Amino acid sequence: MTFDKSWTKITNKEDQTFIKKALAFANWAKKYADSEGKIHCPCKKCVNAGRHDPAIVSTHIIHNGFEPTYNIWIYHGEHLPGYETDGTDSECDESENDSNDGVEDLLNDAFPTGGEPEAENFRDDADQRNNLNAEKLFIDMEKPLYPGCDEFSVLSFLLELMNVKLTCNMTNVSMDMILNLFSQAYKDVNLPRNHYEAKKYLRTLGLGYESIHACKHDCALFWKEYTELQNCPVCSTSRYEENDKGKKKPVKVLRYFPVTSRLKRLYASRHTAKEMLWHDQQRNKEEGVLRHPADGQAWKHFDTVFPDFANESSKCSPRACQ
Ligand SMILES: [Zn+2]
Ligand SMILES: [Zn+2]
Repeated sequence: MTFDKSWTKITNKEDQTFIKKALAFANWAKKYADSEGKIHCPCKKCVNAGRHDPAIVSTHIIHNGFEPTYNIWIYHGEHLPGYETDGTDSECDESENDSNDGVEDLLNDAFPTGGEPEAENFRDDADQRNNLNAEKLFIDMEKPLYPGCDEFSVLSFLLELMNVKLTCNMTNVSMDMILNLFSQAYKDVNLPRNHYEAKKYLRTLGLGYESIHACKHDCALFWKEYTELQNCPVCSTSRYEENDKGKKKPVKVLRYFPVTSRLKRLYASRHTAKEMLWHDQQRNKEEGVLRHPADGQAWKHFDTVFPDFANESSKCSPRACQ
């Protein structure tokens, strides 16, 4: 099965086929949504740099047009030609059954595709399910990179690799190719198959980040009310520049590591939740000895100012946190 992409080349934005296909695309791409239900937007303005709710993505595509250079939908589950694991197109993803260690299944479980995040009760269910899946992922990430490997766990390898990617400014495509090469060369290796999955994997563990475009001169972030702007609201400098291939790319990107998801994840697994309570439950609280930041004046002062917050850890057992 192949993707029908002919509609993306339709230039008349009022064409009914174009509108219908844009709506269908956003609806279908929901299965590649992140934990907030957002997907990469392939409209001409966002060029996959921005992520939005699927409904906004379809509106963007209809108003701005579909980015003409986005031919291989790597942000929406497609693999590079020759890099599919079993020769099928990724539109058949759901039936794919490869030698991966099940990370993909875990990821699919962690990001249920049909959920309506707007409804609170669904969100509670999803939270619970996410916690269970985070727990499974924690166990999974402690697995050796391949059977018998003492040096690297799946996670430590993945983090090293991501570090290399960021330090050397490697493209997502090069990561796709490297991860794919590893999977082909080492049949027993426990790694995600491409960069997109690696990011999803880290995001599930609360290690993901959000990319926020910034003004070249650091005046403002293209965030909240400025999300859609093309120029800096203070100095009017352009948000994008063209690279030598004529492709639009943001001039400056801030990588924001949200603390909430990290804390949630740390409390979601009984392994790490225990560590989160250690300072209160297992620390030697002998006076006059400084062994931990909690023994310091600043921590104690904070506890007296916010007693409810300070008491929280004793109310919160790892079981209750799950
Ligand atoms: Zn867009
Ligand atoms: Zn500026």
